[in-house]
Amino acid sequence: MTLRSTCAIVLKIVDHGESDKLVTFYSNNLGRITGIAKGAKKSRHRFVNKLELFSRLQMLYRPPRNPSGLLFISEAELLCAHLSLRTSFQRYVAAMYICELLLRFTRDSDPDPQLYALLQWALVSLDHADTPQKITALYHLQLLAVVGYRPEIQQCGHCGHPVGPGRSYLFIPGSGSLLCSACHHQQGPHSSRLSVQALKFLASAQMVPLERLNRLQLSRQTAAEAMEALYHYTFHLLQQDIHSWQAMRALAAVPARKKNAPSPGAIQATSGNCPSATT
Ligand SMILES: [Zn+2]
Repeated sequence: MTLRSTCAIVLKIVDHGESDKLVTFYSNNLGRITGIAKGAKKSRHRFVNKLELFSRLQMLYRPPRNPSGLLFISEAELLCAHLSLRTSFQRYVAAMYICELLLRFTRDSDPDPQLYALLQWALVSLDHADTPQKITALYHLQLLAVVGYRPEIQQCGHCGHPVGPGRSYLFIPGSGSLLCSACHHQQGPHSSRLSVQALKFLASAQMVPLERLNRLQLSRQTAAEAMEALYHYTFHLLQQDIHSWQAMRALAAVPARKKNAPSPGAIQATSGNCPSATT
């Protein structure tokens, strides 16, 4: 069978046997899919410094023989290493959370170009900006919209009063909507209080196209508020926990660290230019 080519972003890698790796990635035309890279643990040529978390690759592959089989990864060319996502602890935690959300909300072989573009935007933005909380909150909000669970944050879901000063708001995970202070008298166990500032930010983020999202300004505290609400909503939707949330939540609570803080693990230096977020 002849080889095919695709652009793909690595979401997860696990060792397989003595010399192989199983790589789960999100591709622009294949969606989420897992492939086997034979000999990847030992190869000095085909895969070294390429099959790394968060890398964007041009991949040569053979499709699986049956729908539930593994794709065979023949070769990979590095398009963008997103190196700082593996050398900065803050960025690593945020990138892990972003990838886990995508893994949870997608199924195999169900491509969505919007999700690919959103993932690419998030990783490129994380790689170049020092605002992982803001980027994570924006990514999460956009992801929910693309997969059909856009939260209703423009007005109270009960009385319809538009969000504005003079009332406080709770975000209710069960309905994905707000309750204003005129309609509720106490906070429920899983509801999250959202400031008018956070709600205004999230509402404008829902209107802005991907290429302009980075222009939105958001304080760390407001980003933390938004992330908390989106997490509880997602937990309700998935009915299961997101493993990397605790690390992400801790990150949201600590002051910003300097760029290229201590590495999260053994990291190999890679290089590669990253032309744009629109491939
Ligand atoms: Zn109300």
